[in-house]
This record gives sequence, structure tokens and C-alpha cells, in this order.
Amino acid sequence: MANDDEKWMRRAIEVAKSKGSDPSTAPIAAVIVMDGREIAAERNQCDELHDPTAHAEMMAFRKAGAAIGDEELRGATLYSTLQPCGMCTMASIWSKVGRIVYGAGRDDVHEMYFEAKHVDTLAFISDAYRDDVTIEGGCLRAECAKLYYGPDADLPFEEKANL
Ligand SMILES: [Zn+2]
Repeated sequence: MANDDEKWMRRAIEVAKSKGSDPSTAPIAAVIVMDGREIAAERNQCDELHDPTAHAEMMAFRKAGAAIGDEELRGATLYSTLQPCGMCTMASIWSKVGRIVYGAGRDDVHEMYFEAKHVDTLAFISDAYRDDVTIEGGCLRAECAKLYYGPDADLPFEEKANL
């Protein structure tokens, strides 16, 4: 299982780097796997689509739903190179995926990647009505964290996506 997780996270890292690996290109990717098969692999496309909801996970849910002809992704695993934000964590619950596996966590990256100062949006999972969804972080943590601005990076205003 763990080896498979690393295999799929490597795939996510590859997709994340598809338009370059500089943090300014927001190299975040998500892969959705169902029955051992990739049904979606998407990169963050907010910039390209002028769409603030075009996070990698949201794009992957749209692609996966279209691929299987069903909005429900029961039994599927969502892999994300970065801890999902609140929007994507909520969307994961609605999508009915059974597992969420992410690489870099909130403490590994700059605060500009997250929308809330203190709300622990991962708690959405433990507080969900569903009891058949789990979330695990730290899969290829160091490799994923390398894609992003570090916790102490001194960023110009334009790069602070949450301000
Ligand atoms: Zn998100």
C-alpha cells in the first residue's frame, strides 16, 4: 500500500512539474486512483483559466467524474502534492473519495498556501458525517515540499495568494 502511495505521489509530482517547477508557477497536482487505475491527473490551473476554484484537486474531481460518468468517487484515493485547502477538503467529502493522501503539509510550506489562520481545515474530515474517509499526510514530504515556497520565504505581495 505504502509503495503504491509513493508511486502515485511520484506521478502527482510529475504532473505538478509539467509547466515548470518554479514555485511561482504554482506546481500543485492531484491524482485520483480508482481500482488501481488513474482516472484523473490534474495540475492547478487558476492562472490559465482565470478561475480561483481551479485548484488541482477541483480539476481532478471534474475530470474523474467525467471519466467514470458519476459524481461519486467511492473507493477512490485522492493524491495531492500539497495538503488540500479548505475548499478542496470539503470537495473531497462531497466527492465520496475514501482516502486522501498528501505530500507536503501546512508546516512545510509558506502560509500563503492556506486561507485560514487558525481553523484546522483537516478537521472537516474527522467532523464529516461520513465515517468512511481518511486523510494521511507526509507521503514523499521532502520531495513535495521542494516544489513550494518555504515557511520562511520572504515573498512579494503578488505571490501571497491569500491576501
Ligand atoms: Zn484547494
